[in-house]
Amino acid sequence: MSYTKNIASTIRSLWMGLRITLKHFLKSRKTQQILGINETNYFANREGIATIQYPYEMQPVPDNGRYRLHNEIDDCIVCDKCAKICPVNCIDIEPIKATEEIGRTSDGTPKRIYAATFDIDMGKCCFCGLCTTVCPTECLTMTKVYDFSVIDIREHNFAFAEMSETEISDKRKKLEEHQKSKLAAQPARTEPEEKKATGAVPAKPVFKPKMKPPGPPNPPSNT
Ligand code: SF4
Ligand code: SF4
Repeated sequence: MSYTKNIASTIRSLWMGLRITLKHFLKSRKTQQILGINETNYFANREGIATIQYPYEMQPVPDNGRYRLHNEIDDCIVCDKCAKICPVNCIDIEPIKATEEIGRTSDGTPKRIYAATFDIDMGKCCFCGLCTTVCPTECLTMTKVYDFSVIDIREHNFAFAEMSETEISDKRKKLEEHQKSKLAAQPARTEPEEKKATGAVPAKPVFKPKMKPPGPPNPPSNT
């Protein structure tokens, strides 16, 4: 009797498993609609296979996602805040001070510094987003580009500065001349001022606490 029951139970379980497989097999004729996470029916339309024909089809990414960084260099005031806050030092900025205002950003902030170098090494970036938070002109943003795989890791270093070598050396020369003429226009320093400026001020005496001489060694105990 139990032998017949076992056979019946096996057939029943087999049928239940096969029925589920068959159901999924029939559903797989359909492909799931490509929907963004913000869509209202995102969780409702989950029938069919989820595989998509990447890279011809791509899943939409959320607006607040953190992917590749972009700097709209025309709106950058080269304040260095992003580089300072970056926990992994992947932003490299080489500033050159301008001798006068060089333009305005789209939000009206005056620009007074040129960017000879503005590199972001996305190979080091941990996508924390701190740099975009501190940027005063909001020119540094996270884009929706998440697929930027490369063969050579050095290609993950993205350069945003647009100055040519000639422009860089011209601006440097101009700044040097400006600083020299500013120095020449200053009144001559007095001797103590000159010493202070050149660092020739006598060093302050170093404070040394008086130490007590060590006393006699403790007598050996009798115990
Ligand atoms: S997202 Fe974070 S790690 Fe990446 S560059 Fe900005 S501050 Fe640095
Ligand atoms: S914080 Fe913004 S404005 Fe300042 S240097 Fe970085 S990208 Fe430019």
